[in-house]
Amino acid sequence: MKTTFSVGLKITLLVGVLTMSTIDSGCAPNAKERELKQFISAHVEKIKPLAKQRNLASWDAAGSGRAEDYEKASALTLQIRQVYSNPKDFAFLKGMKESGGLQNPLLARQLDVMYNAYMANQIEPGLLKKIVDLGTQIEKNFSTFRGTIEGDKVTGNDIKEMLKTQTDSAKRKQTWLASKQVGAAVAQDTIRLVKLRNEAARKLGFDNYHTLSLAAGEQDVKEMDRIFEELYELTNAPFARVKGDLDRILAARCGVAVSELMPWHYHDPFFQETPMVYELDLDVYYEDKDVRKLAAEFYAGIGLPVDSILTRSDLYEREGKNPHAFCEDMDREGDVRILCNLENNEYWMETILHELGHGVYFQYHERGVPYLLREPAHTFTTEAIAMFFGRLSRNPAWMQQMLDLSDAQRAEIEKVSDRYAQLKQLIFARWAMVMYNFEKQLYANPDRDLNALWWQMVEKYQLVKKPEGRDEPDWAAKIHLPLYPCYYHNYLLGELLASQLHNHITHKVLKLESGKDVGYVGRRAAGIFLRAKILEPGATYRWNEMIEKATGEPLTPKYFVAEFVN
Ligand SMILES: [Zn+2]
Repeated sequence: MKTTFSVGLKITLLVGVLTMSTIDSGCAPNAKERELKQFISAHVEKIKPLAKQRNLASWDAAGSGRAEDYEKASALTLQIRQVYSNPKDFAFLKGMKESGGLQNPLLARQLDVMYNAYMANQIEPGLLKKIVDLGTQIEKNFSTFRGTIEGDKVTGNDIKEMLKTQTDSAKRKQTWLASKQVGAAVAQDTIRLVKLRNEAARKLGFDNYHTLSLAAGEQDVKEMDRIFEELYELTNAPFARVKGDLDRILAARCGVAVSELMPWHYHDPFFQETPMVYELDLDVYYEDKDVRKLAAEFYAGIGLPVDSILTRSDLYEREGKNPHAFCEDMDREGDVRILCNLENNEYWMETILHELGHGVYFQYHERGVPYLLREPAHTFTTEAIAMFFGRLSRNPAWMQQMLDLSDAQRAEIEKVSDRYAQLKQLIFARWAMVMYNFEKQLYANPDRDLNALWWQMVEKYQLVKKPEGRDEPDWAAKIHLPLYPCYYHNYLLGELLASQLHNHITHKVLKLESGKDVGYVGRRAAGIFLRAKILEPGATYRWNEMIEKATGEPLTPKYFVAEFVN
Protein backbone atom coordinates (compact mmCIF):
# COMPACT_ATOMS: atom_id res chain seq x y z
CA MET A 1 0.00 0.00 0.00
CA LYS A 2 2.89 2.24 0.70
CA THR A 3 4.10 2.12 -2.92
CA THR A 4 0.67 3.08 -4.22
CA PHE A 5 0.72 6.07 -2.02
CA SER A 6 4.16 7.29 -3.03
CA VAL A 7 3.20 6.99 -6.70
CA GLY A 8 0.09 9.04 -6.03
CA LEU A 9 2.21 11.48 -4.16
CA LYS A 10 4.80 11.91 -6.91
CA ILE A 11 2.05 12.66 -9.38
CA THR A 12 0.62 15.34 -7.16
CA LEU A 13 4.00 16.93 -6.66
CA LEU A 14 4.70 16.86 -10.35
CA VAL A 15 1.39 18.46 -11.18
CA GLY A 16 2.16 21.15 -8.65
CA VAL A 17 5.55 21.88 -10.14
CA LEU A 18 4.28 21.73 -13.69
CA THR A 19 1.46 24.14 -13.01
CA MET A 20 3.86 26.59 -11.54
CA SER A 21 6.44 26.35 -14.28
CA THR A 22 3.66 26.79 -16.83
CA ILE A 23 2.66 29.94 -15.07
CA ASP A 24 6.24 31.11 -14.95
CA SER A 25 7.10 30.52 -18.58
CA GLY A 26 3.63 31.09 -20.05
CA CYS A 27 3.93 34.84 -20.06
CA ALA A 28 7.14 36.78 -20.29
CA PRO A 29 7.61 38.78 -17.12
CA ASN A 30 7.16 42.49 -17.66
CA ALA A 31 9.34 45.10 -16.00
CA LYS A 32 7.00 45.36 -13.04
CA GLU A 33 7.12 41.65 -12.41
CA ARG A 34 10.90 41.67 -12.53
CA GLU A 35 10.96 44.49 -10.02
CA LEU A 36 8.56 42.64 -7.72
CA LYS A 37 10.58 39.44 -8.01
CA GLN A 38 13.70 41.32 -6.90
CA PHE A 39 11.81 42.79 -3.98
CA ILE A 40 10.57 39.34 -2.96
CA SER A 41 14.04 37.76 -3.05
CA ALA A 42 15.55 40.55 -1.00
CA HIS A 43 12.65 40.35 1.45
CA VAL A 44 12.85 36.56 1.85
CA GLU A 45 16.62 36.77 2.32
CA LYS A 46 16.00 39.13 5.25
CA ILE A 47 13.00 37.48 6.82
CA LYS A 48 13.80 33.77 6.44
CA PRO A 49 16.81 33.55 8.78
CA LEU A 50 15.18 35.94 11.28
CA ALA A 51 11.98 33.91 11.41
CA LYS A 52 13.87 30.68 11.88
CA GLN A 53 15.99 32.12 14.70
CA ARG A 54 12.90 33.54 16.37
CA ASN A 55 10.99 30.25 16.14
CA LEU A 56 13.95 28.35 17.55
CA ALA A 57 14.34 30.86 20.37
CA SER A 58 10.68 30.69 21.31
CA TRP A 59 10.86 26.90 21.16
CA ASP A 60 13.77 27.00 23.60
CA ALA A 61 11.87 29.40 25.83
CA ALA A 62 8.77 27.18 25.94
CA GLY A 63 10.89 24.18 26.84
CA SER A 64 13.06 25.83 29.47
CA GLY A 65 10.97 28.67 30.88
CA ARG A 66 14.21 30.69 31.16
CA ALA A 67 13.87 34.47 31.09
CA GLU A 68 16.87 34.90 28.76
CA ASP A 69 15.26 32.59 26.17
CA TYR A 70 12.06 34.60 26.31
CA GLU A 71 14.02 37.84 25.92
CA LYS A 72 15.88 36.50 22.91
CA ALA A 73 12.61 35.45 21.28
CA SER A 74 10.94 38.80 21.87
CA ALA A 75 13.98 40.72 20.59
CA LEU A 76 13.81 38.72 17.36
CA THR A 77 10.05 39.28 17.10
CA LEU A 78 10.73 42.99 17.35
CA GLN A 79 13.32 42.79 14.56
CA ILE A 80 10.81 41.02 12.32
CA ARG A 81 8.22 43.63 13.15
CA GLN A 82 10.68 46.34 12.18
CA VAL A 83 11.08 44.77 8.74
CA TYR A 84 7.30 44.87 8.25
CA SER A 85 6.89 48.39 9.55
CA ASN A 86 9.16 49.95 6.89
CA PRO A 87 7.00 52.66 5.26
CA LYS A 88 9.07 52.82 2.05
CA ASP A 89 8.63 49.12 1.41
CA PHE A 90 4.93 49.41 2.14
CA ALA A 91 4.61 52.30 -0.32
CA PHE A 92 6.34 50.17 -2.98
CA LEU A 93 3.93 47.26 -2.39
CA LYS A 94 0.92 49.58 -2.34
CA GLY A 95 2.01 51.11 -5.65
CA MET A 96 2.41 47.64 -7.13
CA LYS A 97 -1.03 46.60 -5.98
CA GLU A 98 -2.78 49.74 -7.15
CA SER A 99 -1.23 49.80 -10.59
CA GLY A 100 -2.37 46.22 -11.30
CA GLY A 101 -1.18 44.39 -14.40
CA LEU A 102 0.54 41.41 -12.81
CA GLN A 103 0.07 38.43 -15.11
CA ASN A 104 1.62 35.82 -12.89
CA PRO A 105 -0.87 34.62 -10.26
CA LEU A 106 1.83 33.32 -7.93
CA LEU A 107 3.52 36.72 -7.91
CA ALA A 108 0.21 38.47 -7.36
CA ARG A 109 -0.54 36.16 -4.45
CA GLN A 110 2.86 36.79 -2.84
CA LEU A 111 2.25 40.50 -3.27
CA ASP A 112 -1.09 40.18 -1.42
CA VAL A 113 0.47 38.20 1.42
CA MET A 114 3.31 40.71 1.87
CA TYR A 115 0.99 43.70 1.52
CA ASN A 116 -1.25 42.42 4.33
CA ALA A 117 1.69 41.70 6.61
CA TYR A 118 3.12 45.18 6.04
CA MET A 119 -0.26 46.88 6.35
CA ALA A 120 -0.92 45.42 9.79
CA ASN A 121 2.42 46.88 10.94
CA GLN A 122 2.12 50.40 9.50
CA ILE A 123 1.57 52.12 12.79
CA GLU A 124 3.76 55.10 13.59
CA PRO A 125 6.31 54.27 16.31
CA GLY A 126 4.89 56.68 18.95
CA LEU A 127 1.37 55.31 18.64
CA LEU A 128 2.63 51.72 18.47
CA LYS A 129 4.55 52.20 21.70
CA LYS A 130 1.42 53.46 23.45
CA ILE A 131 -0.55 50.45 22.18
CA VAL A 132 2.11 47.92 23.22
CA ASP A 133 2.62 49.52 26.65
CA LEU A 134 -1.07 49.65 27.42
CA GLY A 135 -1.48 46.04 26.27
CA THR A 136 1.35 44.97 28.57
CA GLN A 137 -0.23 46.88 31.44
CA ILE A 138 -3.58 45.14 30.94
CA GLU A 139 -1.89 41.76 30.61
CA LYS A 140 -0.12 42.31 33.91
CA ASN A 141 -3.37 43.33 35.57
CA PHE A 142 -5.03 40.20 34.31
CA SER A 143 -2.30 37.91 35.55
CA THR A 144 -1.94 39.47 38.98
CA PHE A 145 -5.57 40.34 39.76
CA ARG A 146 -7.39 38.02 42.17
CA GLY A 147 -11.10 38.27 42.79
CA THR A 148 -12.35 37.95 46.34
CA ILE A 149 -15.14 36.10 48.07
CA GLU A 150 -16.02 37.64 51.44
CA GLY A 151 -12.58 39.24 51.51
CA ASP A 152 -10.66 36.05 50.64
CA LYS A 153 -8.67 35.99 47.42
CA VAL A 154 -9.53 33.27 44.90
CA THR A 155 -7.63 32.07 41.83
CA GLY A 156 -9.08 31.26 38.41
CA ASN A 157 -8.79 27.56 39.19
CA ASP A 158 -10.65 27.99 42.50
CA ILE A 159 -13.46 29.69 40.60
CA LYS A 160 -13.61 26.95 37.96
CA GLU A 161 -13.70 24.25 40.61
CA MET A 162 -16.45 25.94 42.62
CA LEU A 163 -18.63 26.54 39.57
CA LYS A 164 -18.32 22.85 38.70
CA THR A 165 -19.21 21.48 42.10
CA GLN A 166 -21.04 23.99 44.31
CA THR A 167 -24.80 23.40 44.63
CA ASP A 168 -25.69 26.38 46.83
CA SER A 169 -26.97 29.16 44.56
CA ALA A 170 -25.88 31.98 46.88
CA LYS A 171 -22.32 30.66 46.95
CA ARG A 172 -22.34 30.16 43.18
CA LYS A 173 -23.40 33.78 42.81
CA GLN A 174 -20.52 35.01 44.99
CA THR A 175 -18.08 32.92 42.96
CA TRP A 176 -19.41 34.24 39.67
CA LEU A 177 -19.24 37.83 40.95
CA ALA A 178 -15.62 37.23 42.00
CA SER A 179 -14.82 36.08 38.45
CA LYS A 180 -16.13 39.40 37.07
CA GLN A 181 -14.21 41.73 39.40
CA VAL A 182 -11.22 41.83 37.05
CA GLY A 183 -13.53 43.46 34.48
CA ALA A 184 -13.84 46.65 36.53
CA ALA A 185 -10.04 46.71 37.00
CA VAL A 186 -9.26 46.66 33.26
CA ALA A 187 -12.34 48.14 31.55
CA GLN A 188 -11.16 51.76 31.30
CA ASP A 189 -7.74 50.71 29.98
CA THR A 190 -9.40 48.38 27.49
CA ILE A 191 -11.56 51.20 26.13
CA ARG A 192 -8.45 53.40 25.83
CA LEU A 193 -6.67 50.61 23.98
CA VAL A 194 -9.61 50.16 21.60
CA LYS A 195 -9.48 53.89 20.83
CA LEU A 196 -5.72 53.82 20.20
CA ARG A 197 -6.14 50.85 17.86
CA ASN A 198 -8.93 52.69 16.06
CA GLU A 199 -6.71 55.75 15.68
CA ALA A 200 -4.05 53.58 14.01
CA ALA A 201 -6.65 51.98 11.73
CA ARG A 202 -8.14 55.32 10.65
CA LYS A 203 -4.71 56.57 9.61
CA LEU A 204 -4.62 53.62 7.24
CA GLY A 205 -8.02 54.50 5.81
CA PHE A 206 -10.19 51.98 7.68
CA ASP A 207 -13.39 52.72 9.65
CA ASN A 208 -11.97 51.09 12.75
CA TYR A 209 -9.51 48.48 13.97
CA HIS A 210 -11.98 45.60 13.67
CA THR A 211 -12.35 46.25 9.94
CA LEU A 212 -8.57 46.61 9.54
CA SER A 213 -7.87 43.35 11.38
CA LEU A 214 -10.31 41.41 9.29
CA ALA A 215 -8.94 42.93 6.08
CA ALA A 216 -5.37 42.12 7.08
CA GLY A 217 -6.54 38.52 7.56
CA GLU A 218 -8.22 38.60 4.11
CA GLN A 219 -11.68 38.50 5.64
CA ASP A 220 -14.37 41.06 5.24
CA VAL A 221 -17.07 42.09 7.64
CA LYS A 222 -19.93 41.38 5.22
CA GLU A 223 -18.70 37.86 4.57
CA MET A 224 -18.33 37.16 8.31
CA ASP A 225 -21.73 38.72 9.07
CA ARG A 226 -23.38 36.47 6.51
CA ILE A 227 -21.84 33.30 7.97
CA PHE A 228 -22.63 34.27 11.56
CA GLU A 229 -26.18 35.34 10.71
CA GLU A 230 -26.89 32.08 8.90
CA LEU A 231 -25.54 30.05 11.78
CA TYR A 232 -27.60 32.10 14.22
CA GLU A 233 -30.82 31.34 12.33
CA LEU A 234 -30.00 27.66 11.92
CA THR A 235 -29.09 27.09 15.56
CA ASN A 236 -31.88 29.10 17.23
CA ALA A 237 -34.42 26.34 17.76
CA PRO A 238 -31.97 23.47 18.41
CA PHE A 239 -29.95 25.54 20.87
CA ALA A 240 -33.10 26.50 22.76
CA ARG A 241 -34.01 22.81 22.92
CA VAL A 242 -30.67 21.44 24.19
CA LYS A 243 -30.29 24.34 26.55
CA GLY A 244 -33.78 23.62 27.90
CA ASP A 245 -32.68 20.04 28.71
CA LEU A 246 -29.47 21.28 30.26
CA ASP A 247 -31.30 23.92 32.32
CA ARG A 248 -33.59 21.31 33.82
CA ILE A 249 -30.59 19.28 34.99
CA LEU A 250 -28.73 22.31 36.36
CA ALA A 251 -31.81 23.63 38.15
CA ALA A 252 -32.49 20.25 39.76
CA ARG A 253 -28.91 19.99 41.00
CA CYS A 254 -29.15 23.34 42.76
CA GLY A 255 -32.73 22.84 43.91
CA VAL A 256 -34.12 25.89 42.10
CA ALA A 257 -36.83 26.35 39.47
CA VAL A 258 -35.69 26.61 35.84
CA SER A 259 -37.05 30.16 35.78
CA GLU A 260 -34.67 31.04 38.63
CA LEU A 261 -31.51 30.02 36.73
CA MET A 262 -28.95 32.81 36.54
CA PRO A 263 -25.54 33.19 34.83
CA TRP A 264 -23.84 31.66 37.88
CA HIS A 265 -25.63 28.35 37.46
CA TYR A 266 -23.49 27.42 34.44
CA HIS A 267 -20.15 25.71 34.96
CA ASP A 268 -17.78 28.50 33.86
CA PRO A 269 -17.97 32.29 34.14
CA PHE A 270 -19.09 32.87 30.51
CA PHE A 271 -21.08 29.72 29.70
CA GLN A 272 -18.62 28.94 26.93
CA GLU A 273 -17.93 25.35 28.01
CA THR A 274 -20.15 22.33 28.35
CA PRO A 275 -21.28 21.69 31.90
CA MET A 276 -20.32 18.10 32.71
CA VAL A 277 -23.80 16.81 33.37
CA TYR A 278 -23.86 13.86 31.03
CA GLU A 279 -21.48 11.32 32.50
CA LEU A 280 -18.88 10.60 29.86
CA ASP A 281 -15.61 9.35 31.25
CA LEU A 282 -13.51 8.39 28.28
CA ASP A 283 -10.24 8.33 30.23
CA VAL A 284 -10.76 4.69 31.19
CA TYR A 285 -10.30 3.69 27.56
CA TYR A 286 -6.96 5.46 27.30
CA GLU A 287 -5.33 4.88 30.66
CA ASP A 288 -3.44 1.72 29.67
CA LYS A 289 -2.65 2.87 26.11
CA ASP A 290 0.14 5.04 24.71
CA VAL A 291 -1.39 8.15 23.12
CA ARG A 292 1.83 8.96 21.25
CA LYS A 293 1.89 5.53 19.65
CA LEU A 294 -1.81 5.67 18.79
CA ALA A 295 -1.38 9.04 17.07
CA ALA A 296 1.67 7.88 15.11
CA GLU A 297 -0.12 4.72 13.95
CA PHE A 298 -3.24 6.59 12.96
CA TYR A 299 -1.47 9.26 10.89
CA ALA A 300 0.72 6.63 9.19
CA GLY A 301 -2.44 4.69 8.35
CA ILE A 302 -4.00 7.59 6.42
CA GLY A 303 -0.78 8.23 4.53
CA LEU A 304 0.35 11.29 6.45
CA PRO A 305 3.20 9.88 8.55
CA VAL A 306 4.34 12.06 11.44
CA ASP A 307 7.47 10.25 12.64
CA SER A 308 9.85 13.03 11.68
CA ILE A 309 7.68 15.52 13.58
CA LEU A 310 7.52 13.32 16.68
CA THR A 311 11.28 12.75 16.70
CA ARG A 312 11.91 16.50 16.95
CA SER A 313 9.10 17.15 19.41
CA ASP A 314 9.03 17.79 23.14
CA LEU A 315 6.27 15.51 24.37
CA TYR A 316 6.43 14.97 28.11
CA GLU A 317 6.08 17.09 31.22
CA ARG A 318 9.20 18.64 32.73
CA GLU A 319 10.01 21.23 35.38
CA GLY A 320 9.89 24.76 33.95
CA LYS A 321 8.29 23.70 30.69
CA ASN A 322 5.21 25.36 29.17
CA PRO A 323 2.24 23.32 30.51
CA HIS A 324 0.10 23.70 27.36
CA ALA A 325 0.53 22.45 23.82
CA PHE A 326 1.38 23.98 20.44
CA CYS A 327 2.87 23.24 17.05
CA GLU A 328 5.51 25.31 15.29
CA ASP A 329 7.02 25.28 11.82
CA MET A 330 10.63 26.37 12.42
CA ASP A 331 11.80 27.04 8.89
CA ARG A 332 9.13 26.14 6.29
CA GLU A 333 11.57 23.50 5.14
CA GLY A 334 10.43 20.51 7.13
CA ASP A 335 11.53 21.25 10.69
CA VAL A 336 8.09 20.97 12.30
CA ARG A 337 7.70 20.26 16.02
CA ILE A 338 4.98 19.94 18.60
CA LEU A 339 5.12 20.61 22.31
CA CYS A 340 2.83 18.59 24.59
CA ASN A 341 2.74 17.32 28.16
CA LEU A 342 1.35 13.91 27.36
CA GLU A 343 -0.47 11.65 29.73
CA ASN A 344 -2.50 8.67 28.69
CA ASN A 345 -6.00 10.11 28.87
CA GLU A 346 -8.63 11.45 26.49
CA TYR A 347 -7.60 15.08 26.86
CA TRP A 348 -4.05 14.42 25.67
CA MET A 349 -5.26 12.04 22.98
CA GLU A 350 -7.31 14.88 21.54
CA THR A 351 -4.44 17.31 22.01
CA ILE A 352 -1.77 15.26 20.26
CA LEU A 353 -4.14 14.52 17.36
CA HIS A 354 -4.91 18.25 17.20
CA GLU A 355 -1.30 19.44 17.30
CA LEU A 356 -0.24 16.85 14.74
CA GLY A 357 -3.06 18.15 12.54
CA HIS A 358 -1.27 21.52 12.53
CA GLY A 359 1.93 19.53 12.10
CA VAL A 360 0.93 17.71 8.92
CA TYR A 361 -0.38 20.96 7.44
CA PHE A 362 3.07 22.53 7.85
CA GLN A 363 4.99 19.38 7.02
CA TYR A 364 3.22 18.67 3.76
CA HIS A 365 3.32 22.10 2.12
CA GLU A 366 4.71 21.44 -1.31
CA ARG A 367 8.35 22.54 -1.38
CA GLY A 368 7.97 24.00 -4.88
CA VAL A 369 5.57 26.61 -3.48
CA PRO A 370 7.38 29.92 -2.90
CA TYR A 371 8.61 30.53 0.66
CA LEU A 372 6.09 33.30 1.33
CA LEU A 373 3.18 30.99 0.48
CA ARG A 374 4.50 27.99 2.38
CA GLU A 375 2.08 28.53 5.25
CA PRO A 376 -1.55 27.60 5.87
CA ALA A 377 -4.13 29.51 3.80
CA HIS A 378 -5.37 31.11 7.03
CA THR A 379 -4.96 30.55 10.75
CA PHE A 380 -8.51 29.21 10.88
CA THR A 381 -7.84 26.67 8.10
CA THR A 382 -4.98 25.13 10.07
CA GLU A 383 -7.24 25.20 13.13
CA ALA A 384 -9.84 23.34 11.06
CA ILE A 385 -7.42 20.55 10.14
CA ALA A 386 -6.33 20.30 13.78
CA MET A 387 -9.98 20.15 14.93
CA PHE A 388 -10.86 17.64 12.23
CA PHE A 389 -8.31 15.20 13.68
CA GLY A 390 -8.71 16.25 17.32
CA ARG A 391 -12.43 15.34 17.25
CA LEU A 392 -11.49 11.69 16.69
CA SER A 393 -10.48 11.07 20.32
CA ARG A 394 -14.22 10.95 21.14
CA ASN A 395 -15.39 9.40 17.89
CA PRO A 396 -16.88 5.95 18.71
CA ALA A 397 -15.83 4.40 15.38
CA TRP A 398 -12.27 5.67 15.72
CA MET A 399 -12.07 4.57 19.34
CA GLN A 400 -13.37 1.10 18.56
CA GLN A 401 -10.80 0.53 15.83
CA MET A 402 -7.81 2.16 17.47
CA LEU A 403 -8.47 0.85 20.98
CA ASP A 404 -9.84 -2.60 20.08
CA LEU A 405 -13.15 -2.04 21.83
CA SER A 406 -16.05 -4.48 21.75
CA ASP A 407 -19.40 -3.57 20.18
CA ALA A 408 -20.84 -3.30 23.66
CA GLN A 409 -18.16 -0.81 24.75
CA ARG A 410 -18.72 1.22 21.62
CA ALA A 411 -22.47 1.28 22.23
CA GLU A 412 -21.78 2.49 25.76
CA ILE A 413 -19.74 5.42 24.40
CA GLU A 414 -22.31 6.21 21.73
CA LYS A 415 -25.05 6.61 24.31
CA VAL A 416 -23.62 9.91 25.44
CA SER A 417 -20.94 10.97 22.94
CA ASP A 418 -23.32 12.34 20.30
CA ARG A 419 -25.36 14.29 22.77
CA TYR A 420 -22.23 15.63 24.38
CA ALA A 421 -20.67 16.66 21.06
CA GLN A 422 -23.87 18.42 20.04
CA LEU A 423 -24.11 20.31 23.29
CA LYS A 424 -20.45 21.27 23.19
CA GLN A 425 -20.60 22.62 19.64
CA LEU A 426 -23.86 24.49 20.11
CA ILE A 427 -22.75 26.12 23.34
CA PHE A 428 -19.47 27.18 21.78
CA ALA A 429 -21.10 28.47 18.59
CA ARG A 430 -23.58 30.65 20.48
CA TRP A 431 -20.82 31.99 22.72
CA ALA A 432 -18.65 32.82 19.69
CA MET A 433 -21.60 34.83 18.32
CA VAL A 434 -21.56 36.97 21.48
CA MET A 435 -17.84 37.60 21.06
CA TYR A 436 -17.97 38.37 17.35
CA ASN A 437 -20.95 40.71 17.50
CA PHE A 438 -19.89 42.47 20.67
CA GLU A 439 -16.37 43.05 19.40
CA LYS A 440 -17.61 44.43 16.10
CA GLN A 441 -19.74 46.99 17.93
CA LEU A 442 -17.09 47.72 20.53
CA TYR A 443 -14.72 48.96 17.82
CA ALA A 444 -17.49 50.69 15.87
CA ASN A 445 -18.35 52.83 18.91
CA PRO A 446 -16.34 52.39 22.12
CA ASP A 447 -18.29 55.21 23.78
CA ARG A 448 -21.66 53.47 23.76
CA ASP A 449 -23.11 51.75 26.82
CA LEU A 450 -20.95 48.63 26.60
CA ASN A 451 -22.23 47.08 29.84
CA ALA A 452 -25.76 47.07 28.47
CA LEU A 453 -24.64 45.94 25.01
CA TRP A 454 -22.85 42.92 26.50
CA TRP A 455 -25.98 41.66 28.24
CA GLN A 456 -28.11 42.26 25.16
CA MET A 457 -25.74 39.96 23.29
CA VAL A 458 -25.65 37.33 26.06
CA GLU A 459 -29.43 37.26 26.33
CA LYS A 460 -29.90 37.12 22.58
CA TYR A 461 -27.33 34.46 21.69
CA GLN A 462 -26.81 32.42 24.85
CA LEU A 463 -30.32 32.73 26.31
CA VAL A 464 -28.80 33.57 29.68
CA LYS A 465 -30.60 36.09 31.87
CA LYS A 466 -29.01 39.37 32.90
CA PRO A 467 -29.03 39.72 36.69
CA GLU A 468 -31.56 42.36 37.73
CA GLY A 469 -30.03 45.86 37.64
CA ARG A 470 -26.54 44.61 36.70
CA ASP A 471 -24.44 47.48 35.27
CA GLU A 472 -20.81 46.38 35.42
CA PRO A 473 -18.17 45.85 32.69
CA ASP A 474 -18.65 42.08 32.64
CA TRP A 475 -17.39 42.02 29.04
CA ALA A 476 -13.96 43.30 30.16
CA ALA A 477 -13.37 40.15 32.23
CA LYS A 478 -12.83 38.26 28.96
CA ILE A 479 -9.08 38.45 28.35
CA HIS A 480 -9.40 37.96 24.57
CA LEU A 481 -11.07 41.34 24.11
CA PRO A 482 -8.06 43.49 25.06
CA LEU A 483 -5.22 41.04 24.38
CA TYR A 484 -6.18 38.87 21.39
CA PRO A 485 -8.37 41.30 19.49
CA CYS A 486 -10.61 40.46 16.56
CA TYR A 487 -9.55 36.84 16.41
CA TYR A 488 -12.18 34.86 18.31
CA HIS A 489 -14.45 34.28 15.31
CA ASN A 490 -11.71 32.18 13.72
CA TYR A 491 -12.23 29.42 16.29
CA LEU A 492 -15.78 29.04 15.08
CA LEU A 493 -14.79 29.21 11.41
CA GLY A 494 -12.35 26.36 12.14
CA GLU A 495 -15.19 24.20 13.48
CA LEU A 496 -17.36 25.01 10.45
CA LEU A 497 -14.60 24.03 8.04
CA ALA A 498 -13.78 20.83 9.95
CA SER A 499 -17.42 19.77 9.46
CA GLN A 500 -17.43 20.81 5.81
CA LEU A 501 -14.31 18.69 5.20
CA HIS A 502 -15.78 15.74 7.09
CA ASN A 503 -18.90 15.90 4.93
CA HIS A 504 -17.00 16.26 1.68
CA ILE A 505 -14.54 13.45 2.40
CA THR A 506 -17.32 11.10 3.55
CA HIS A 507 -19.54 11.60 0.52
CA LYS A 508 -17.24 12.61 -2.30
CA VAL A 509 -13.90 11.03 -1.46
CA LEU A 510 -14.84 7.85 0.44
CA LYS A 511 -18.22 7.69 -1.32
CA LEU A 512 -20.10 6.68 1.81
CA GLU A 513 -23.75 7.30 2.61
CA SER A 514 -23.21 8.80 6.04
CA GLY A 515 -20.39 10.24 8.09
CA LYS A 516 -21.68 8.74 11.29
CA ASP A 517 -19.52 5.62 11.35
CA VAL A 518 -16.45 7.18 9.79
CA GLY A 519 -13.38 7.06 12.02
CA TYR A 520 -10.88 7.47 9.15
CA VAL A 521 -8.69 4.66 10.47
CA GLY A 522 -6.62 3.35 7.53
CA ARG A 523 -8.46 5.64 5.08
CA ARG A 524 -5.57 6.63 2.84
CA ALA A 525 -7.91 8.26 0.34
CA ALA A 526 -8.79 10.84 3.00
CA GLY A 527 -5.11 11.60 3.65
CA ILE A 528 -4.33 11.87 -0.07
CA PHE A 529 -7.26 14.25 -0.57
CA LEU A 530 -6.27 16.50 2.32
CA ARG A 531 -2.66 16.52 1.25
CA ALA A 532 -3.32 17.41 -2.37
CA LYS A 533 -6.12 19.93 -1.86
CA ILE A 534 -5.25 21.65 1.38
CA LEU A 535 -1.82 20.90 2.80
CA GLU A 536 0.31 21.09 -0.33
CA PRO A 537 -0.95 24.38 -1.80
CA GLY A 538 -0.33 26.24 1.50
CA ALA A 539 -1.35 29.85 0.95
CA THR A 540 -1.25 29.66 -2.85
CA TYR A 541 -4.95 30.57 -2.86
CA ARG A 542 -6.93 32.89 -0.61
CA TRP A 543 -8.72 30.76 2.02
CA ASN A 544 -12.15 30.76 0.46
CA GLU A 545 -10.80 30.03 -3.00
CA MET A 546 -8.86 27.09 -1.53
CA ILE A 547 -11.99 25.79 0.23
CA GLU A 548 -14.04 26.09 -2.93
CA LYS A 549 -11.39 24.28 -4.97
CA ALA A 550 -11.20 21.52 -2.36
CA THR A 551 -14.88 20.95 -1.58
CA GLY A 552 -16.76 22.49 -4.50
CA GLU A 553 -18.26 25.33 -2.46
CA PRO A 554 -17.11 28.24 -0.32
CA LEU A 555 -17.13 28.04 3.48
CA THR A 556 -20.65 27.34 4.71
CA PRO A 557 -22.14 26.58 8.14
CA LYS A 558 -24.61 24.04 6.73
CA TYR A 559 -22.47 20.94 7.33
CA PHE A 560 -21.69 21.97 10.89
CA VAL A 561 -25.42 22.30 11.39
CA ALA A 562 -26.09 18.92 9.76
CA GLU A 563 -23.46 17.26 11.92
CA PHE A 564 -24.31 18.76 15.29
CA VAL A 565 -27.78 20.16 15.17
CA ASN A 566 -30.13 17.39 14.06
ZN1 LIG B 1 -4.85 24.58 17.33
